[in-house]
Amino acid sequence: MIRLELLGAHTRVHATLCYACPQGPAGCCASPPGVEWSDLGRIVSLGGAAWILEQLAAGNLKRGGRALNILRREADAAAPRRCVFHEGQGCTIPADRRTATCNFYVCDDAFDRAAESPPPDGGDVASGREAVNRLMDLHGRWDVEIAARVEARWPEGPPWDATLLAWLGDEYARLVRRDRRALRPLTP
Ligand code: SF4
Ligand code: SF4
Repeated sequence: MIRLELLGAHTRVHATLCYACPQGPAGCCASPPGVEWSDLGRIVSLGGAAWILEQLAAGNLKRGGRALNILRREADAAAPRRCVFHEGQGCTIPADRRTATCNFYVCDDAFDRAAESPPPDGGDVASGREAVNRLMDLHGRWDVEIAARVEARWPEGPPWDATLLAWLGDEYARLVRRDRRALRPLTP
């Protein structure tokens, strides 16, 4: 089954298959997504600036990729190599501190499995796919736009401090406002 949690730009897509992921005990969290500029703006806009700075200081977030990468925990008896925030049964951080991808990504296998045995009401397979595509497109575009503005504003590289994060939060909020019509189908 696919279930949509409509939260505008923060919409979450849930799939039953994820609870018994065929990829292994860590599922997608074996390879955490990059924390992109748009993700940083999103987390800041949800009150997480201090949390980002704490995770940078702790080494759980590192410079790399498009903006930051999440550290991976080494394999142990519980699971293979995986995201540092994954423990036991799943993610240990709240949804508002995760990347947007962590919250909306669902693989084709999970959609296909849900389509094979839809619930009586037809479920949310089609709207789930549409939501994933829409969110991927929007967050991708926001990330590219913010990255270009970071480059123009700090050609020598941005300072990884509260000023940068506050600016990213404002940029993200501006882009969400600008694209509110595209977000309407995801707005409760
Ligand atoms: S989205 Fe797919 S690969 Fe990821 S945890 Fe769910 S079933 Fe596994
Ligand atoms: S932040 Fe959470 S949901 Fe995202 S990859 Fe890490 S453990 Fe998985």
